[in-house]
Amino acid sequence: MKPSSPSSQKLRACDFEDSLEFARACDARDPLRTFRRRFHIPLCTDGTPVVYLAGNSLGLQPKTTRRLLLEELDDWAEHGVEGHVNSRRAWVRYHEFFREGAAALVGAKHSEVVAMNTLTVNLHLLMVSFYRPEGKRTKILIERGAFPSDTYAAHSHIRSRGLDPATNLVFISPRAGERCLRMEDIESIIAQHADQIALVMLPGVQYLTGQVLDIARITAAAHRAGARCGWDLAHAVGNVPLALHDANVDFAAWCSYKYLNGGPGAVAGAFIHERHGSDHHLPRYLGWWSNDPANRFEMRELFTPTEGADGWAVSNPPILSLTPLLASFELFKKAGLERVFAKSRLLSGYLQWLLRQRADQAIARGVEALTLPRVVTPANTDERASQVSIVVGNKQDPALLKAALSAKGIVVDCRQPDIVRAAPVPLYNNMEDVWRFVDALPWS
Ligand SMILES: *Cc1c(COP(=O)(O)O)cnc(C)c1O
Repeated sequence: MKPSSPSSQKLRACDFEDSLEFARACDARDPLRTFRRRFHIPLCTDGTPVVYLAGNSLGLQPKTTRRLLLEELDDWAEHGVEGHVNSRRAWVRYHEFFREGAAALVGAKHSEVVAMNTLTVNLHLLMVSFYRPEGKRTKILIERGAFPSDTYAAHSHIRSRGLDPATNLVFISPRAGERCLRMEDIESIIAQHADQIALVMLPGVQYLTGQVLDIARITAAAHRAGARCGWDLAHAVGNVPLALHDANVDFAAWCSYKYLNGGPGAVAGAFIHERHGSDHHLPRYLGWWSNDPANRFEMRELFTPTEGADGWAVSNPPILSLTPLLASFELFKKAGLERVFAKSRLLSGYLQWLLRQRADQAIARGVEALTLPRVVTPANTDERASQVSIVVGNKQDPALLKAALSAKGIVVDCRQPDIVRAAPVPLYNNMEDVWRFVDALPWS
């Protein structure tokens, strides 16, 4: 396919070309190309925008965020306490403004989602309800390489029920010499501990490798074993299509500062399946914002739960940390999730293809394969999303590679001992960014 052909979204690997011209021609036909201009992209010292591939760590700022925040500050200045009801977006019902956007992103009913707190705090609140050790069934299954916060959270819940983490935290690991988890291994470890697992808690997208896990299939396996299943969607939300309701997921939580571009420390989200939303026997940590809004301000001693996910919201929402999400959800809605995810597959497909091309060429020139950057993210479309994780060549330090790229105006993120992560984000990255990144890597 030549750069002049019709739809860049329909490109296949056999159509790709390794050239800046090809990448630019694709970008010229990108139906989402104007969205890039709606973000602040950090600049190099020469005033040109950096190639920003760290959206898996902190998403960029939508240009509308500042105006929306200033509106809240103005309303506060003008109305004081009356702003709870009189501001242009009444603070008293502020978290309701995020239902529609969050429900679309995670594939849920409006009543199943709530914007609240931060990610790890939400995992804690949800484990209070959904980790219910009983009799022999006391274990939590997580992955060995889980994001540390998730491991700590699981650990603390096991201890808080008077149990021993050494015997009740079950880990699933990749096989020796492998980096990604295998579906059959996840299913077999669940089956193996079937009568002892109370909770399976895994990531929708693994933060280090970028591997996408099959949420519906693993949730079904956990349920067959009689366990509950919860998901950490930190790297999945806004990055891959999700269908939590249909997958029958018990609960999920995510943060909003990665692919959702909500800004540092932005308010996180939580999902509670509707079959649990009105189960008033589930233990919960309560607060006045979990109480039915119909009588919340009557300040009664007796608690009346709010139906649905709102029944887990403890405190009144931090308005100024929620506001940036208005800008974010608006952009996702305007762009359309299908187009966002189609572009994501194109960008990450091109990224993986280019990396293979350059490696093959280097090997053909006689360069030792072990010294070259090597992709650990699965190549299969169903198992990868925006992020591509690269193991840097033999004994190199990923921090040095990150610094060398940074000197060329390319922003990536590294994790010791040997991983560099690069995530082309469909709303603000393009094929040119992908090409520039691969071209800047050391291939000799
Ligand atoms: C980013 C991330 C976190 C961060 O937790 P906070 O509570 O937002 O600080 C936790 N878990 C995973 C898997 C993450 O990727």
